[in-house]
This record gives sequence, C-alpha cells and structure tokens, in this order.
Amino acid sequence: MSGKTITRREFLRGGVCALFGAAAVSVFGKDFLSPETARASESASGVDTTSFSIARDVSKCIGCGKCVEMCSGRQGLDILKLAVRDGKPVSALKYAETLSESACIGCGQCARHCPSGAITVKDALSVVNAALNNANYQRVVWQFAPSAQHIIGEEFRVLTGADMSKKIASAVRKLGPRNLAFSTDFGADITIMEEATEFVNCFKRGEKKPFMTSCCPGWVNYVELTAPDMIPHLSSCKSPMEMLGALIKSYLPEKTGLSASEIFHVAVMPCTAKKYERAREEMTVDGVRAVDAVLTVTEFKNLLMSKGIDLASLPDGEYDSLFDGTSGAGRIFGATGGVCEAAMRTAYYLLTGQEPPTIEFTSLRGNDGVKTAEVTIDGETIRACAVNGIANVKDMIEDIRNGTCPYDFIEVMACRGGCSGGGGTPILFGDEGVRHRGLYQYDASSAVKSSHNNRTLSEIYAEYLSSPCSTVAETLLHTSYRSRKI
Ligand code: SF4
Ligand code: SF4
Repeated sequence: MSGKTITRREFLRGGVCALFGAAAVSVFGKDFLSPETARASESASGVDTTSFSIARDVSKCIGCGKCVEMCSGRQGLDILKLAVRDGKPVSALKYAETLSESACIGCGQCARHCPSGAITVKDALSVVNAALNNANYQRVVWQFAPSAQHIIGEEFRVLTGADMSKKIASAVRKLGPRNLAFSTDFGADITIMEEATEFVNCFKRGEKKPFMTSCCPGWVNYVELTAPDMIPHLSSCKSPMEMLGALIKSYLPEKTGLSASEIFHVAVMPCTAKKYERAREEMTVDGVRAVDAVLTVTEFKNLLMSKGIDLASLPDGEYDSLFDGTSGAGRIFGATGGVCEAAMRTAYYLLTGQEPPTIEFTSLRGNDGVKTAEVTIDGETIRACAVNGIANVKDMIEDIRNGTCPYDFIEVMACRGGCSGGGGTPILFGDEGVRHRGLYQYDASSAVKSSHNNRTLSEIYAEYLSSPCSTVAETLLHTSYRSRKI
C-alpha cells in the first residue's frame, strides 16, 4: 500500500483502465490500489466521521479526483488516493482505515473542492442553534477571525474583500440581545505580545532557533503527526482564537459576574482544523473549555440565511467594547506572512523601546511559497521567513534537521494564502489576492498599527494578566504539544 498517490491528471490519462481495477494496477503500478485494498480502507458503509474537521461518504463520490489533487498536489500531503470500488473510481484513504488513524491535518482543502458532497466540513450548526435556544446561557459570545471579516462578504454578493465587521456586528445583534461580538484581531494582538516576547527572550539566549509560530492548527497537526522532532521549535503560544477564548471564559465572567458555564462561545473561522484545536485537552484551563463551537465562514453564512438575515443589507453596527482597540497588525494575521510582519513590528519595539523605522514589511507579502525579511538592530540581524502552504515546509524542515536553516523566526501557514485560503472559505475564481488586499488596506487605514499599541490590551495586562509571559499569562495563554506520529 505504499507509493505515490494517483493524481487527477494521471487518473484521467489512465481513464478506462482505471475503471477495471486489477488492470489499473498494472497501468499505474503497485501504487494504485486494487479493489480489495480499497475496500479495506473504508468502513462497510463507506462513511467516515472520525475526523473533527471533515467527513467522508464514499457513496456520494463521483471519482473526479479533485480531493486527491488538493491533498497531494496543493498540500503536498499523502492522505488520499483514487481507488476502485464496485468497478468505479472513488476517493479512498491511502494508508489508514479511518481519517482519525491517518496523518490528515484537517486542512479541509479536499472538502472545499469536492463537488459532490462526498467529503464535507463537519458542521457545528446544530450545536450553535441549540445554544442560541438554551436560556441557561446568559451570553452567547462570538469572535470573528481577521480574514473571516473580509471573506464573509463573498457569501453576500460583496466580492471586493472589503471589511464587513460593522455588518457582522449588526448580524450578531439580530441573533438576540444575549449575543456579544468581538474581533479575533484582539486575540491576534495578545498572541503577538506573548509570541514576540517569547521570541525575543529565545533570540537573546540563542534558544529554539529557529523559533516557529504555532497559531495555524493545520501546521501544528502536521508537526505532531509527521514531524514531532520540530516540537521544540514551536512557540508555546496558543492561537489568537484560543487566547481570546481564554479571556472570554475568565476575564469576561470577572467583569460581568457570570460564571464561565453561563457563557457559550462561538468562533467563526476560515479554517476547518480549528474544529480539532477547539477540542484539544490542552485548550482547557481548570476544566473550562475556551471555545464551545467553531463555525466556518460558510457555516456562519448558512446560519444567517436560515434566519433570513441578509448581512450585506444590514445597517452598520459596532463590536462590543470589552476587547476593542485592535491593531492593523492583528488584522493582517489573515494573510500569509501577516503573523511574521506583526511579530517583527513588536519584536523591534521590545528590543529597542522604539517603533520600527518601517512598519510595512512588504517582502513578507504576496503568495510566493517562501518569503523573507531581515531586521537589523544594533548590528545584529533577525532573519524572518514566512512559509506559505504546508507543501513548502518540507525543505525547511530538512534544513533545520541538517543545521543549515538560516532563519531565526519562521511563520508557517498550512493553506496557500494563509487563513485567507482556508478550508472553511468559499472557492475563489482567482487567487487569494483580493482577500489579501482587503486585509492590508484595513491595516493601512488603521490608527493603531502594532499590537503593543493596543491600549485596551495594555490595560488588561496591567489589571489582569500582569505582563507578557507572566505566570497568569502562561496559564491562560500558552500550551504544549505532543507527538502523535502516525
Ligand atoms: S483535510 Fe487536508 S490533509 Fe486531510 S485529507 Fe483533506 S486535504 Fe488531505
Ligand atoms: S471525494 Fe469528492 S473530490 Fe474526491 S473524487 Fe470523490 S467527488 Fe471528487
């Protein structure tokens, strides 16, 4: 059962032969599964719901090969292949019986491109609807990822990548008076304060080189499942979603007199891997889970449509104020290279006490596979790098293993384009450029450019968290990783 996965192009070239199972084995070599081994890699029903992120129903598969093209071609992963079942080509797992036994990182790119509903995103709408109807919850709290605030417009005829946060705020009000809305930009600002502090400390001590970001759960899954020797390089920071979630379940109750159990917290993300991250045991503090449900951008659209809410036609509203003052740096987390750029702005400030001479690190922008920047402070140079798409990280990992990696700080995003191209977003006709433009325009027009200048966050540090990487911050905002090597 070893070897390379058959691509769609190879499959189409093999065409008729592939329909005849055993003959196809000789056409494509031993790498192409026989009908017998294909059956062994699926449950009897052909339904696999073992992943937190996606579900498979082989009975709906039309054998187009799009999922394989995405998993192998775009993502450089080796989870799916085309096989033959009952004389027809179907998507199958390459090495495992179920998704949970495979090295699937939950990126959702296969589901995003599957035209038949044979691979779908695991839907959390019923859980969220139940919470909206449950009077025991005094508050239903929503957070919206940086990129989600620009992508949701596409679901409502706004194709410009424009910031839709004011419409989102109004939509949440329509869901009822118990609902509160915040931007995950605030969580991104916390992440930068924690991550840049952790990086600067490591840089000074020569530790963790290269220091690698941990806010992309698809990347974290890849490390734990496939390259656990990279765990010592990972930042201990939780993702922005989890950091804001930790405050929503601790700081918000302190401010309102509610208990954490009276708050239901929904995160609207561009990402399907977040559905696993949310469920991780490591994301609880004293038994309290920070995020109760993750909806993709498309699921949120479906929720609004089911309630007759046309987001684009709503009047402007405002997010709730407890977590405001967010920076442009927090917003550009939604684009590949954005975390790296935001971290460099604040790392410079932490090392010098001054604002960096250049706020925009334009060499970290765009959709290239690997992008770099250098920051020189008092003759010492920080070499930063952004890896765009999990397929581009393999060479970097080999360089790290060989001791030839030149970088001090590396951002990795599993999906091409970063969160803007996440598995929970609608498919674009072009690339992710329109979404990126919206994010960088927002940053350019922001009064606050860097996370360390978010005044609300500074006040919460002074009042509640003490300082970045303090004992309280470590408890609420940091995590650990474990090998789950398949
Ligand atoms: S979710 Fe991602 S890693 Fe998993 S099978 Fe689909 S494309 Fe491959
Ligand atoms: S699972 Fe979907 S994308 Fe994959 S081959 Fe079947 S129909 Fe095509």
